[in-house]
Formats: sequence, C-alpha cells, structure tokens
Amino acid sequence: MRVVLLGPPGAGKGTQAVLICKKYGIPHISTGDMLREAVASGSELGKTVKSVLDAGELVTDKLVMQVVGDRLRREDCARGYLLDGVPRTVVQAEILREMLAETSSALTSVVQLSVPEQVLLDRIRHRGGAGARTDDTAEVAAKRLQVYWTQTAPVAEFYRQEGLLVEIDGVGSVEEVSERIFAAVER
Ligand code: AMP
Repeated sequence: MRVVLLGPPGAGKGTQAVLICKKYGIPHISTGDMLREAVASGSELGKTVKSVLDAGELVTDKLVMQVVGDRLRREDCARGYLLDGVPRTVVQAEILREMLAETSSALTSVVQLSVPEQVLLDRIRHRGGAGARTDDTAEVAAKRLQVYWTQTAPVAEFYRQEGLLVEIDGVGSVEEVSERIFAAVER
C-alpha cells in the first residue's frame, strides 16, 4: 500500500494519516513533521527552512524531494507507506513518479480530502493548544491556504489524469471520514 494523502491545510490529513498508518501498519511520512523536526534540532536543513515554514510558504521542490527520497529508501518503506504533505507541487509529483519508477513501485492510490474553505479556516484557527504550531496564526493560515490553491490543487488534477485519484468528503466525524478512506484505499 503506497498511498498519498492530499488535502488543504485543516482538512484533517494529520489525524487521518495516523489512523491509516495504524490500521495498515505502514510508516507515516509527513514532510511537515520532518521539516519541523529539522527546525527544532537546529540542523543545517532546519536553519535553511525555518523562515519558509514560518511564512507559510513552500520549501524548494529539490530540497523536499531529497528528504523524501532518503526516507523512502529506508527499510520500513519496503511494504508500503503513507505520504502526508507531499507532493505539494506538480513538479514534486513528477519527481516522485520518476523516483518510484526506478524501483518499479508506483503509488497504489491518492486520496484527496475535500473540505469547504470556511470550515478549513475555522479548524486551523481552533487548532491551538498543546499542539500549537507557529504557522497556525490567522495570517499564516490564510497564506498556507492560498499556497495550497495555487500550487497544490493542481497536484490532484495530475493524479486524476494518472487514474489514481479518489476524492473523499472530509466533513464528518473522525471515524466517518476514516471509514471512507479505508474503503477507498482497499478498493
Ligand atoms: P504541513 O505540516 O504539511 O502543513 O507542512 C508545514 C510546512 O512545511 C508547510 O507550510 C511548508 O512550509 C513546509 N512543507 C511541508 N511539506 C512540504 C512540501 N512537500 N513541499 C514544500 N514545503 C513543504
């Protein structure tokens, strides 16, 4: 099972990703988590990307796909994985396709979580609390949504043309949405 989870910020990707990975016993590969860890650790990569994350903009395609390529080569990915937060641009999707073609391990499905914009903004604003992210302010949230519509929404179209895209209604309880996703990836 090699799955990509797509959807705007606030769509519930992170929550659903954890449930999918637990159910199928596959690693959860979140580029956002990996980049935030790099920032927290103060590594060279972290220093390079911190201001980009704080602004809600995208890290360069080359840098992100290098991180992803290194991660996918690790042994725990041999039986599948879930990608969360990547590909974020059509260029990243093309690079991923090339990388997977080299190992004859194409994606098995791409799940798009669809949620109306007003619901997204409300959800992002109310995240807060213990898991608060420095990029969850209203201003940066709006920027991340704008980046999503311009740069990431075309990725869904890319996968639709590849015949891999499954659109899921992301409005409902966590359980309702996860059941929809399970049904989609098991098709
Ligand atoms: P996320 O947790 O997926 O919302 O990612 C948080 C931030 O990390 C994004 O706003 C971007 O700055 C950066 N980021 C995560 N994944 C990618 C990616 N695939 N390409 C470029 N930037 C990314």
